Amino acid sequence: MKEKIRVSTGSAAVLGLRGARLDDAPTTVYLLAGGRCAVDCAFCTQARTSASPDGFLSRVVWPEFEPEHVLQALGAVARHPSRLKRVCVQATRTSRARSMLRWLIPALDAVRRDCGAGVGDGRIQISVSHHASSVEEVREILALGADAIGIALDAACADVHARTKPGSWEGTVSLLEEAAGLFPGRISTHLIVGLGETEEDLVRVMRRLTDSGVTIGLFAFTPVRGTAMEDVPQPPIGTYRRVQLARHIIVNRLWDVEGFRFSDGRITGFGAEREKLLEIARTGKPFETSGCPGCNRPYYNECPGGTMYNYPRSLTCAEIEKALCEVGLAEGSR
Ligand code: SF4
Repeated sequence: MKEKIRVSTGSAAVLGLRGARLDDAPTTVYLLAGGRCAVDCAFCTQARTSASPDGFLSRVVWPEFEPEHVLQALGAVARHPSRLKRVCVQATRTSRARSMLRWLIPALDAVRRDCGAGVGDGRIQISVSHHASSVEEVREILALGADAIGIALDAACADVHARTKPGSWEGTVSLLEEAAGLFPGRISTHLIVGLGETEEDLVRVMRRLTDSGVTIGLFAFTPVRGTAMEDVPQPPIGTYRRVQLARHIIVNRLWDVEGFRFSDGRITGFGAEREKLLEIARTGKPFETSGCPGCNRPYYNECPGGTMYNYPRSLTCAEIEKALCEVGLAEGSR
């Protein structure tokens, strides 16, 4: 008998498996496989010694369902390409996760082919977020039918990594670089802002990863009860907005980051005229959820009504004006 799969609350609502009010519907369906993790990241609800309930990842609740119900519901929704762009499987670091991926990815691939969403522009993408330990493992996941694999770096530098995660930061960066060279456009990572790094650390690693062809998604650190970092506050919104703007400049290669200026690790200049920065910031794009195309992760880091670190949709004019103040670009804010 196949193991149950966890589905994020928002995704379960999109799939019709659970009722929930959705202010912003996810355009990616998020699944969680593998059970409680074998390692101990200080910020993670799924960490081995975390006292958070099993059904939590970050601040989101992930109820369990029978796999056939999930696949059936996915098939029904996948027939409407405007509602679903991507399926993202988050795997914990366990042998259970590895064996689940071996049947789940081909099953997802079969669902999208059966409903005509397996080819062409409307092809539903399958991402797998999995801590692969070698390029051979990356190759295996992609060969199972995944379009992309995310290997979470989380920490912006080796020092922060040593304080928050097991393993080697440089080893993970090297694996990302090697995999991105072998599988162009199919390798992504996540960085968490607010683990104790500086804005300069984030700029440096984002530049290095972009130069290697790795897609970068940003998360705001979110303290959750039961984790080792439950008492650490979220990053200041000004920091997050500056890092979002820096990421947008770097990944779109708008100009070289040599012109960036820092003071005590904080970004004090982006290497461009204020008018140019305003033009970019006023699109609102830098402040939307970042990562794989079609991934919006609504309320992953945010409480409804609280600070919107990542906007899961286009910003309103008022939200853009607010973001300009937060990033320090509004009239009189410098
Ligand atoms: S950016 Fe979104 S779809 Fe891509 S790996 Fe991260 S959570 Fe999954």
